[in-house]
Amino acid sequence: RRWAHNIPSFSHLNTVNEEDLAHFSSILAPTSILSTLPSISTPADDIAPYNVDWMGKYHGQANSVLRPRTTQQVSEIVKYCAQRKIGIVPQGGNTGLVGGGISLQKEIVLSLGAMNNVRSFDPVSGILVADAGCILQSLSEHIAPHNHIMPLDLGAKGSCQIGGNISTNAGGLRLLRYGSLHGTVLGLEVVLPDGTILDQLSTLRKDNTGYDLKQLFIGGEGTLGIVTGVSILTPPAPQATNNIFLALPHFDNVLPLFQIVKRQLGEIMSAFEYIDRTAYDMGLQHGLGPLLSADEAGGSQCFVLVETSGGNQDHDLEKLNNLLESLLTADEPLINTGVLSQSPTQFNSIWALREGLTECVQKEGKPYKYDVSVPLADFQKVVDAVRERMISKGLYGDHAISKVMGYGHVGDGNLHLNVIAKHGYRPELEAALEPFIYEIVADRKGSVSAEHGIGSMKRDALHYSKSDVSIDWMRKIKQVFDPLNIMNPGKVIP
Ligand code: FAD
Repeated sequence: RRWAHNIPSFSHLNTVNEEDLAHFSSILAPTSILSTLPSISTPADDIAPYNVDWMGKYHGQANSVLRPRTTQQVSEIVKYCAQRKIGIVPQGGNTGLVGGGISLQKEIVLSLGAMNNVRSFDPVSGILVADAGCILQSLSEHIAPHNHIMPLDLGAKGSCQIGGNISTNAGGLRLLRYGSLHGTVLGLEVVLPDGTILDQLSTLRKDNTGYDLKQLFIGGEGTLGIVTGVSILTPPAPQATNNIFLALPHFDNVLPLFQIVKRQLGEIMSAFEYIDRTAYDMGLQHGLGPLLSADEAGGSQCFVLVETSGGNQDHDLEKLNNLLESLLTADEPLINTGVLSQSPTQFNSIWALREGLTECVQKEGKPYKYDVSVPLADFQKVVDAVRERMISKGLYGDHAISKVMGYGHVGDGNLHLNVIAKHGYRPELEAALEPFIYEIVADRKGSVSAEHGIGSMKRDALHYSKSDVSIDWMRKIKQVFDPLNIMNPGKVIP
C-alpha cells in the first residue's frame, strides 16, 4: 500500500488583506450589543484559541476569524471568498480530534459560535430545529423540560456544536440505542461554496423525493459547505435509566458477555462500553472512581459499563439484578464482580469514569488518537500489537510512549486506541505508529476512522479504508460542489 504524507498545495488561494477585512466588516456590521465577542478578530486580538486544536496537536495559521450571526451573513462571506479565492475553514466548538477545524495555511476561520438560537421545538413530534452553532449540551437542556433528549451524547458535549457534530457525523454514547445522525437528522440548511443557501430544513420523517443531498454534509467535515441550520429528531427521555459496572478476568470474556447481556436485557440495553486495565488505572490516578475496591478490581484485565434505558424502573431493575446474579453464579463466571448503581450519584460516577477518560489522557501527555473500527474479537489484539511495536522499537517508557490503552463503544465495534507520548509529539514516534496502525486495521477489514472523521490527520490514510473508485467519486463530488477548492481545503480528500 502507498503511504506518504503529502503537503497540499494552496497556490490557488489568496491571503486575506486589509481590503478583504473591510469588506467582511461591512457584511458583519453592526456587532450586536449583546455579543461579547467581536464579529471579526485578527492577530491584534487573541485568535490563538482558534488556531490550535483541543489536543494541542494541530497549529493553524489563520490571520482572521469571522463570527457571522445569520445564514445570510454566512452566504455573503462565502460569495465574496469565492470571488476572491479565499479559503474558508468552518469551525464549531473546536473539539474535533483529527485536525479538521484548523486552518492549514492562511484560510480564514469561520466560527459558527454566534449562531446559537433554537429556531423551534415541537414537543409532540420531538423535532428540534436549531442554528448550527448551538452547543450540544444547551440543546439537551432546552428540550429536557419537554421530556426529550438529544439522540447523541459525547464527552465534549459542553463545547461541541450541533453543526460540528453533524459535520463529523459524531457517534458517541447513544449510537447503540438511537442510531447515527444519518438517520436522526431530518434536514439541513447549508451555505454552499458559491454562497448559495441550500434550504433543506425539512421537518418531515418521510421524504423520498429523489437524492437525499443532506447526507453528503453529514460527515462532510466542512469540505462541501457550511451547515448553518439543523432539523433533528429527538427521542422521548427514558423513564428509567440504570447502569452496571463489571470487572472481567480477561478480554476473551467480553464477546460472550456482550451476547448474554444483549439477550437478557433486550430492548432496554442502551450502552455497552469497554475500558481496558490501563485506561481504568489511569482514570483512578486522576480521581475518577474508584467504582470497585482494589481487591475487587484486582485480577481484572478489563471492565465493561452497561446502561439500560427503559420505561419502568421496577421492571428494568429486576432484569439487571437477574443479569448480575446469573453472571456471578454461573459455573464458569465471565465476570469477577460487578456493581449496580443505587442512586443518581452512583449512576453519574459510573458514567464519569468512562466519559472522563479522554480528559485524563490529555493530562498524561500528548495523545496520538486512533479511533478505529475493528471486529470486536480483535480489540485487545490491536492494542497489544501497538504496545509491542513500541517496545520492539525501544520507544516504550517514560522517555517516549508511556501508555497504550483501549476503550470505546464495544457495542458499535469502535475502539478508541490512545497512545500517550509523555513528553510531547515527536516525528519518530509518529513514524513508528503510522502507517503501522492503519495497516493492522486494514488487514482486519476495519475502518481507520470509526467516528472522529478524516480531517488532515487521516487524509493520506483514507485509502486504507476506501477503494480507489470510492476516493475518485469523492473527488468528483467535491469538484461539483466546490470547483474552486476554497471550502476547508487540504482536508479529507487525499
Ligand atoms: P469542530 O471541532 O469545530 O469541527 C470539526 C469538523 O467539522 C471540522 O472539519 C470543521 O471544519 C467542521 N465543522 C464544524 N462546524 C461546521 C459547520 N457548521 N459546517 C460545516 N463544517 C463544520 N466524537 C465522537 O464522534 N464521539 C465521541 O464520543 C467523542 N467524544 C469526544 C470527547 C472529548 C472529550 C473530545 C474533546 C472530543 C470527542 N469527540 C467525539 C470528537 C468531537 O467532539 C466531535 O468530532 C464533535 O462532533 C466536533 O464538534 P465541534 O463543534 O467541536 O466541531
